[in-house]
Amino acid sequence: MKRERCQVVIAGAGPVGTVMATLLAQIGVDVVVLEAGADCAQDLRASTFHPPTLEMLDQIGITPMLLDRGLKAPVYHWRDRQSGDFIEFDLSELSDVTRYPFRIQCEQYHLSRALADGLEKFDNADIRFGNRLLSFEQDDSGVDIEVETALGIDHLRADYLIGADGANSIVRKWLGIEFDGFTYAERFLCLSTEEDLAAHLPGLAPVNYVSDPEEWLVLLRVPSLWRVLVPTDGTLDDDELRSDKMKNEIFDRLTGNGAVVETRHRTLYRVHQRVAKSFVENRVILIGDSAHLNNPLGGFGMNSGVHDAFNLFEKLEPLLKSGKPNGSLELYDRQRRKVTHSFTQTQTIENMKFIQSGHESGAHERKRQEMLAIKQDDVRRREYLMRQAMYESLAQAESIN
Ligand SMILES: Cc1cc2nc3c(=O)[nH]c(=O)nc-3n(C[C@H](O)[C@H](O)[C@H](O)COP(=O)(O)OP(=O)(O)OC[C@H]3O[C@@H](n4cnc5c(N)ncnc54)[C@H](O)[C@@H]3O)c2cc1C
Repeated sequence: MKRERCQVVIAGAGPVGTVMATLLAQIGVDVVVLEAGADCAQDLRASTFHPPTLEMLDQIGITPMLLDRGLKAPVYHWRDRQSGDFIEFDLSELSDVTRYPFRIQCEQYHLSRALADGLEKFDNADIRFGNRLLSFEQDDSGVDIEVETALGIDHLRADYLIGADGANSIVRKWLGIEFDGFTYAERFLCLSTEEDLAAHLPGLAPVNYVSDPEEWLVLLRVPSLWRVLVPTDGTLDDDELRSDKMKNEIFDRLTGNGAVVETRHRTLYRVHQRVAKSFVENRVILIGDSAHLNNPLGGFGMNSGVHDAFNLFEKLEPLLKSGKPNGSLELYDRQRRKVTHSFTQTQTIENMKFIQSGHESGAHERKRQEMLAIKQDDVRRREYLMRQAMYESLAQAESIN
């Protein structure tokens, strides 16, 4: 059987797979990206790019596009829905740390799409849509990969296979790696609208986490739309959850004025907190959502996947050049898995508890007082901003050897 050869195969042309492929293509690595879909997915998922991610993406020349297409959001709010009180945090305070002291609010597909276009320009990179990785087998010197295409089954052999194939990763499943954690009972409904929500709710920041024991909300601005994320009753069926009735009730409670708000998208998500037991198995490596999943409160999922890609690139570059295993992939596993547990999982679970905690228990008020204390203390506020902007997790990963 004829097998096409290349150095690296990446399964998945989401934001993480396309970043990884571009890093490798730029140094001349022969890379093939397999994407099951007909194009990069255009769904309503990540919209927040944190400062260190923008700095990293500068290395592959894509940050100017994000600055151009996205919305600069230095300020974000933790809001209390019942009282209307809010605590404001301002990333401008980190202007001595970064040239990007703000979040960029921009839909993730702009990143994948632009990088996919860029990959077409490299002779040593090949991005193949409508190509689904089916299975693989590895030995001491490489990985044999079976791919389903519209014309039949293709066979490739690569030195390394990178699974950037998202939450339901076939690469992770094929390796038999456990994906421990839990799934939230409620499903999350994401609505987008061209209606200016700030006209109904004056003083909104571009990013707002609104806590409420009955119905918490995330209200996010992207350049042309507002996005509203709400929890829904997990027992209702999809049609009910996406119905006009449901949408009208949500906006009615939100604006309080009975205004009929039209939506552009209504998307339901099942949300998980899960981490793969291992990110590396010899010549096969997991990055992004294939390795870890978390709730979207804080905007860490895609950002941490991009951080995986940059970390792995550092380890893979010398390995591809020398061809000699040197323990660096194991270091990738230790560094990125550790911060996934100690930062991304911990912080997102904490953010969820805060946004949904009931007022009766007093837990919410205690947390609110703690946030106010952080806000009022210069040292603690800076530490908090460094943590939420993900600098702390990157420093922590660097310290692991
Ligand atoms: C509502 C919501 C809001 C979010 N907001 C944020 C945010 O603001 N900031 C943030 O950082 N994160 C956010 N996230 C998380 C973020 O969307 C994900 O972490 C991110 O998409 C992960 O990127 P990825 O490339 O690893 O996986 P994906 O984006 O899932 O891409 C995987 C790709 O692999 C392809 N694929 C799958 N199987 C195969 C196969 N067998 N062969 C070939 N291709 C395959 C898929 O078609 C897909 O294109 C949010 C998530 C949700 C649900």
